Amino acid sequence: MHNDKIETLLNEITAYQASSPEELENYRMRFISKKSVVGELFAEMRNVPNEEKKAFGQQINSVKQAAEDKFQELIEAINQNGKSQQSTGIDLTLPATTLPVGGIHPLTATRQRIIEIFERIGFNLSEGPEIEDDWHNFTALNFPENHPAREMQDTFFLEKNPDIALRTHTSSVQVRVMENQKPPIRTLSPGRVFRNEAISARAHCIFHQVEGLYVDRNVGFADLKQTLYHFAKEMFGKNTQVRFRPSYFPFTEPSAEIDISCQLCNGEGCNVCKGTGWVEIGGSGMVDPNVLENCGIDSEEFTGFAFGMGIERIAMLKYQIKDLRLFTENDIRFLRQFKPML
Ligand SMILES: [Zn+2]
Repeated sequence: MHNDKIETLLNEITAYQASSPEELENYRMRFISKKSVVGELFAEMRNVPNEEKKAFGQQINSVKQAAEDKFQELIEAINQNGKSQQSTGIDLTLPATTLPVGGIHPLTATRQRIIEIFERIGFNLSEGPEIEDDWHNFTALNFPENHPAREMQDTFFLEKNPDIALRTHTSSVQVRVMENQKPPIRTLSPGRVFRNEAISARAHCIFHQVEGLYVDRNVGFADLKQTLYHFAKEMFGKNTQVRFRPSYFPFTEPSAEIDISCQLCNGEGCNVCKGTGWVEIGGSGMVDPNVLENCGIDSEEFTGFAFGMGIERIAMLKYQIKDLRLFTENDIRFLRQFKPML
């Protein structure tokens, strides 16, 4: 009778499956705990005749052992199952999801390229405030009292008398450098400037300039030309031609506009260069002695040259961009085209 019971229990233990902690606990209650069926078998021991006690004891011990072995087996199976459920959907051998990498804005890239070119020939970088007073933006730069640039139409004034305005050019930075440093000065001032102009394909009220200034003993117009030849060839390619056209700026004398040969038609004449074969990239000249004196530099001892260029203008020529507004519209289809410049 006991043999049958033990046989049944052993079969039940072998067949038991637990797929959840609850089922595992049920197993423990039924086969392991004090009140389990195995525990009951031990209690039956006292009803067994003495001569059978030994054999019966061995049998229930083997049931107890089988129940405990199975219990460990079930615990391991459940832990294993839990782990594989946690890792569902994660395949460590798959390549990582890449985050989209942005590109550098064409104006930033152009500005960087310009800085690189001039840094290699000894220009350092200088910066100044975007909100300027009249002295640094106009008066020190030799702007006459009645110059049209001072009018409300061209300049964003924040205050009048004394005048405070958004700087209309980065020449104001040159004044600040000359006021604070003694020659030799060789500096490049890139930055954002503001003019009250209607926004169109060719003009914007916010744009970027880069200005260069070189002040030392015996600086001449030949140095200016050589520096800008070097820049044009580095920026646009070694076959680029440069020409200087006489012009007027309040802060330089003599003054010249800088033209380069049209990149699109190689000087043959096209729409971009309006058939002339030349496109303007900026203005330049020898620093007016009044400006040097205004900044506390002896104009008898020192001379200098200065030049200024629009960064948008350079970028438009270099990358053949037809509309200035594209730079600030944040159209991803436009910006994406410059991604390789990263
Ligand atoms: Zn052309």
